[in-house]
Amino acid sequence: MTAHVIEARDVNLSFGPTPALRGATVSAAPGEILAVMGPSGSGKSTLLFCLAGILVPDSGEIRFDGARVDTLDETRRSALRRDQFGFVFQFGQLVPELTAEENVALPLLLAGLRRNKAIEQVRPWFERLGLDGLEGRRSGELSGGQAQRVALARGMVAKPQVLFADEPTGSLDSLTGEQVMSLLVDAAREQGTTVVIVTHEARVAAYADRQVVVRDGNVHTPATEPVVA
Ligand code: ADP
Repeated sequence: MTAHVIEARDVNLSFGPTPALRGATVSAAPGEILAVMGPSGSGKSTLLFCLAGILVPDSGEIRFDGARVDTLDETRRSALRRDQFGFVFQFGQLVPELTAEENVALPLLLAGLRRNKAIEQVRPWFERLGLDGLEGRRSGELSGGQAQRVALARGMVAKPQVLFADEPTGSLDSLTGEQVMSLLVDAAREQGTTVVIVTHEARVAAYADRQVVVRDGNVHTPATEPVVA
Protein backbone atom coordinates (compact mmCIF):
# COMPACT_ATOMS: atom_id res chain seq x y z
CA MET A 1 0.00 0.00 0.00
CA THR A 2 1.39 3.39 -0.98
CA ALA A 3 0.83 6.56 1.03
CA HIS A 4 -1.22 8.03 -1.80
CA VAL A 5 -3.72 6.04 -3.79
CA ILE A 6 -4.16 8.83 -6.31
CA GLU A 7 -1.87 11.76 -6.98
CA ALA A 8 -1.33 14.71 -9.34
CA ARG A 9 2.12 16.31 -9.36
CA ASP A 10 2.78 19.70 -10.89
CA VAL A 11 0.12 19.19 -13.55
CA ASN A 12 -0.37 21.70 -16.37
CA LEU A 13 -3.16 21.52 -18.94
CA SER A 14 -4.43 24.13 -21.38
CA PHE A 15 -7.44 24.04 -23.68
CA GLY A 16 -6.02 25.95 -26.66
CA PRO A 17 -4.95 29.30 -25.25
CA THR A 18 -6.88 28.79 -21.98
CA PRO A 19 -4.78 27.43 -19.11
CA ALA A 20 -7.02 25.21 -16.93
CA LEU A 21 -4.36 23.72 -14.62
CA ARG A 22 -1.12 25.47 -13.69
CA GLY A 23 1.17 23.36 -11.55
CA ALA A 24 -1.65 21.55 -9.74
CA THR A 25 -0.47 19.14 -7.04
CA VAL A 26 -2.84 17.09 -4.91
CA SER A 27 -3.12 13.58 -3.50
CA ALA A 28 -5.50 11.39 -1.54
CA ALA A 29 -4.60 8.65 0.94
CA PRO A 30 -6.27 5.22 0.82
CA GLY A 31 -9.81 5.50 2.15
CA GLU A 32 -9.62 9.28 2.38
CA ILE A 33 -12.56 11.46 1.35
CA LEU A 34 -11.14 14.56 -0.31
CA ALA A 35 -13.26 17.56 -1.28
CA VAL A 36 -11.96 19.73 -4.13
CA MET A 37 -13.54 23.15 -3.83
CA GLY A 38 -13.19 26.45 -5.67
CA PRO A 39 -15.10 28.88 -7.84
CA SER A 40 -16.59 27.99 -11.20
CA GLY A 41 -13.95 27.82 -13.94
CA SER A 42 -11.05 27.40 -11.49
CA GLY A 43 -10.07 23.98 -12.88
CA LYS A 44 -11.75 21.54 -10.47
CA SER A 45 -13.34 19.29 -13.11
CA THR A 46 -10.22 19.35 -15.26
CA LEU A 47 -8.19 18.22 -12.24
CA LEU A 48 -10.66 15.41 -11.52
CA PHE A 49 -10.59 14.29 -15.18
CA CYS A 50 -6.77 14.24 -15.08
CA LEU A 51 -6.70 12.22 -11.84
CA ALA A 52 -9.21 9.78 -13.34
CA GLY A 53 -7.19 9.27 -16.54
CA ILE A 54 -9.88 10.83 -18.73
CA LEU A 55 -7.71 13.82 -19.70
CA VAL A 56 -3.94 13.66 -20.17
CA PRO A 57 -2.00 16.66 -18.85
CA ASP A 58 0.38 18.65 -21.04
CA SER A 59 3.03 18.17 -18.35
CA GLY A 60 3.32 16.81 -14.82
CA GLU A 61 2.47 13.37 -13.47
CA ILE A 62 -0.64 11.44 -12.49
CA ARG A 63 -0.14 8.35 -10.36
CA PHE A 64 -2.50 5.63 -9.17
CA ASP A 65 -1.13 3.33 -6.47
CA GLY A 66 2.30 4.75 -7.21
CA ALA A 67 2.24 3.94 -10.95
CA ARG A 68 2.06 6.52 -13.74
CA VAL A 69 -1.35 6.95 -15.38
CA ASP A 70 -0.60 9.84 -17.74
CA THR A 71 1.93 7.78 -19.72
CA LEU A 72 -0.54 4.95 -20.42
CA ASP A 73 -2.27 4.81 -23.80
CA GLU A 74 -6.04 5.35 -24.08
CA THR A 75 -6.82 1.59 -24.04
CA ARG A 76 -4.93 1.07 -20.78
CA ARG A 77 -6.39 4.18 -19.18
CA SER A 78 -9.84 3.05 -20.20
CA ALA A 79 -9.22 -0.37 -18.60
CA LEU A 80 -7.94 1.34 -15.45
CA ARG A 81 -11.11 3.44 -15.25
CA ARG A 82 -13.28 0.37 -15.77
CA ASP A 83 -11.47 -1.84 -13.26
CA GLN A 84 -10.39 0.54 -10.49
CA PHE A 85 -12.49 3.70 -10.62
CA GLY A 86 -16.13 4.61 -10.11
CA PHE A 87 -17.82 7.80 -11.28
CA VAL A 88 -20.78 9.93 -10.22
CA PHE A 89 -21.60 13.05 -12.21
CA GLN A 90 -23.87 16.02 -11.56
CA PHE A 91 -26.79 14.79 -13.63
CA GLY A 92 -26.54 11.08 -12.89
CA GLN A 93 -26.19 10.32 -16.59
CA LEU A 94 -28.14 7.09 -16.39
CA VAL A 95 -28.77 5.27 -19.66
CA PRO A 96 -32.43 6.17 -20.32
CA GLU A 97 -33.28 2.94 -22.17
CA LEU A 98 -32.16 0.77 -19.24
CA THR A 99 -33.96 0.13 -15.96
CA ALA A 100 -32.46 1.37 -12.70
CA GLU A 101 -31.28 -2.18 -11.97
CA GLU A 102 -29.63 -2.54 -15.38
CA ASN A 103 -27.95 0.86 -14.98
CA VAL A 104 -26.41 -0.20 -11.67
CA ALA A 105 -25.34 -3.53 -13.17
CA LEU A 106 -23.48 -1.89 -16.09
CA PRO A 107 -19.99 -1.74 -14.52
CA LEU A 108 -20.29 -5.42 -13.54
CA LEU A 109 -21.43 -6.45 -17.02
CA LEU A 110 -18.56 -4.44 -18.53
CA ALA A 111 -16.20 -6.30 -16.18
CA GLY A 112 -17.47 -9.56 -17.72
CA LEU A 113 -19.89 -10.76 -15.05
CA ARG A 114 -22.87 -12.81 -16.25
CA ARG A 115 -26.19 -11.01 -16.10
CA ASN A 116 -27.67 -13.17 -13.30
CA LYS A 117 -24.60 -12.72 -11.12
CA ALA A 118 -24.56 -8.97 -11.81
CA ILE A 119 -28.22 -8.52 -10.87
CA GLU A 120 -27.58 -10.54 -7.68
CA GLN A 121 -24.86 -8.10 -6.64
CA VAL A 122 -26.97 -5.09 -7.58
CA ARG A 123 -30.03 -5.97 -5.49
CA PRO A 124 -28.64 -5.13 -2.00
CA TRP A 125 -27.79 -1.62 -3.20
CA PHE A 126 -31.47 -0.83 -3.72
CA GLU A 127 -32.29 -1.61 -0.11
CA ARG A 128 -29.17 0.07 1.20
CA LEU A 129 -29.88 3.32 -0.64
CA GLY A 130 -33.61 3.38 0.08
CA LEU A 131 -34.51 2.49 -3.51
CA ASP A 132 -36.51 -0.67 -2.82
CA GLY A 133 -39.20 -1.23 -5.44
CA LEU A 134 -37.61 1.10 -8.01
CA GLU A 135 -35.46 -1.59 -9.69
CA GLY A 136 -37.58 -1.69 -12.86
CA ARG A 137 -37.97 2.07 -13.36
CA ARG A 138 -36.27 3.96 -16.16
CA SER A 139 -34.48 7.25 -15.39
CA GLY A 140 -37.44 9.32 -16.62
CA GLU A 141 -39.57 7.69 -13.92
CA LEU A 142 -37.23 8.59 -11.04
CA SER A 143 -36.96 11.81 -9.03
CA GLY A 144 -33.64 13.68 -9.16
CA GLY A 145 -32.63 12.32 -5.77
CA GLN A 146 -33.60 8.75 -6.69
CA ALA A 147 -31.73 8.96 -10.01
CA GLN A 148 -28.64 10.26 -8.21
CA ARG A 149 -28.79 7.40 -5.69
CA VAL A 150 -28.99 4.95 -8.63
CA ALA A 151 -25.94 6.71 -10.11
CA LEU A 152 -24.18 6.37 -6.74
CA ALA A 153 -24.96 2.63 -6.63
CA ARG A 154 -23.58 2.30 -10.18
CA GLY A 155 -20.43 4.17 -9.12
CA MET A 156 -19.85 1.91 -6.12
CA VAL A 157 -21.17 -1.52 -7.13
CA ALA A 158 -17.89 -2.79 -8.57
CA LYS A 159 -16.05 -1.77 -5.35
CA PRO A 160 -13.74 0.75 -7.02
CA GLN A 161 -10.48 1.82 -5.41
CA VAL A 162 -11.37 5.44 -6.10
CA LEU A 163 -14.75 7.07 -6.60
CA PHE A 164 -14.65 10.32 -8.57
CA ALA A 165 -17.68 12.52 -7.97
CA ASP A 166 -18.13 15.75 -9.96
CA GLU A 167 -20.73 17.99 -8.28
CA PRO A 168 -22.81 14.91 -7.34
CA THR A 169 -25.35 17.05 -5.49
CA GLY A 170 -25.28 19.97 -7.92
CA SER A 171 -28.70 19.26 -9.41
CA LEU A 172 -30.43 18.45 -6.09
CA ASP A 173 -32.14 20.53 -3.43
CA SER A 174 -30.12 20.84 -0.23
CA LEU A 175 -31.92 18.18 1.84
CA THR A 176 -31.77 15.61 -0.98
CA GLY A 177 -28.13 16.57 -1.60
CA GLU A 178 -27.26 15.94 2.04
CA GLN A 179 -28.95 12.54 1.92
CA VAL A 180 -26.94 11.56 -1.16
CA MET A 181 -23.70 12.77 0.48
CA SER A 182 -24.45 10.89 3.66
CA LEU A 183 -25.08 7.66 1.70
CA LEU A 184 -21.98 8.23 -0.40
CA VAL A 185 -19.76 8.71 2.64
CA ASP A 186 -21.23 5.68 4.46
CA ALA A 187 -20.75 3.42 1.43
CA ALA A 188 -17.20 4.69 0.87
CA ARG A 189 -16.22 4.12 4.52
CA GLU A 190 -17.71 0.64 4.49
CA GLN A 191 -15.82 -0.35 1.34
CA GLY A 192 -12.64 1.59 2.14
CA THR A 193 -13.07 3.52 -1.10
CA THR A 194 -11.05 6.69 -1.62
CA VAL A 195 -13.33 9.53 -2.78
CA VAL A 196 -12.41 12.64 -4.74
CA ILE A 197 -15.40 14.92 -4.77
CA VAL A 198 -15.59 18.18 -6.70
CA THR A 199 -18.04 20.64 -5.21
CA HIS A 200 -18.47 24.37 -4.76
CA GLU A 201 -20.80 23.84 -1.80
CA ALA A 202 -19.25 24.12 1.69
CA ARG A 203 -22.12 22.05 3.08
CA VAL A 204 -21.14 19.13 0.81
CA ALA A 205 -17.40 19.55 1.41
CA ALA A 206 -18.05 19.32 5.15
CA TYR A 207 -18.61 15.57 4.71
CA ALA A 208 -15.01 15.12 3.55
CA ASP A 209 -11.98 14.27 5.70
CA ARG A 210 -9.99 17.05 4.04
CA GLN A 211 -10.62 19.97 1.74
CA VAL A 212 -8.45 21.65 -0.86
CA VAL A 213 -9.29 24.73 -2.91
CA VAL A 214 -8.52 25.19 -6.61
CA ARG A 215 -7.86 28.77 -7.73
CA ASP A 216 -6.66 29.67 -11.21
CA GLY A 217 -5.57 26.10 -11.87
CA ASN A 218 -3.59 25.73 -8.68
CA VAL A 219 -4.41 23.68 -5.58
CA HIS A 220 -4.30 25.34 -2.18
CA THR A 221 -4.80 23.93 1.27
CA PRO A 222 -7.10 26.25 3.19
CA ALA A 223 -5.32 27.91 6.09
CA THR A 224 -6.38 26.53 9.43
CA GLU A 225 -7.69 28.96 12.01
CA PRO A 226 -4.78 30.64 13.81
CA VAL A 227 -4.47 29.39 17.36
CA VAL A 228 -5.07 32.23 19.77
CA ALA A 229 -2.48 32.17 22.54
P1 ADP B 1 -14.46 24.12 -12.78
O1 ADP B 1 -14.69 22.66 -12.73
O2 ADP B 1 -13.72 24.64 -11.59
O3 ADP B 1 -15.71 24.91 -13.04
P2 ADP B 1 -13.14 23.53 -15.29
O4 ADP B 1 -12.08 22.57 -14.95
O5 ADP B 1 -14.39 23.02 -15.89
O6 ADP B 1 -13.48 24.44 -14.02
O7 ADP B 1 -12.55 24.62 -16.28
C1 ADP B 1 -11.29 25.28 -16.09
C2 ADP B 1 -11.00 26.20 -17.27
O8 ADP B 1 -10.83 25.44 -18.45
C3 ADP B 1 -12.14 27.18 -17.58
O9 ADP B 1 -11.57 28.37 -18.05
C4 ADP B 1 -12.91 26.48 -18.66
O10 ADP B 1 -13.60 27.41 -19.47
C5 ADP B 1 -11.80 25.77 -19.43
N1 ADP B 1 -12.28 24.50 -20.05
C6 ADP B 1 -12.68 23.40 -19.40
N2 ADP B 1 -13.00 22.41 -20.27
C7 ADP B 1 -12.79 22.91 -21.50
C8 ADP B 1 -12.91 22.39 -22.83
N3 ADP B 1 -13.32 21.13 -23.06
N4 ADP B 1 -12.61 23.21 -23.87
C9 ADP B 1 -12.16 24.47 -23.65
N5 ADP B 1 -12.01 25.02 -22.44
C10 ADP B 1 -12.31 24.26 -21.37
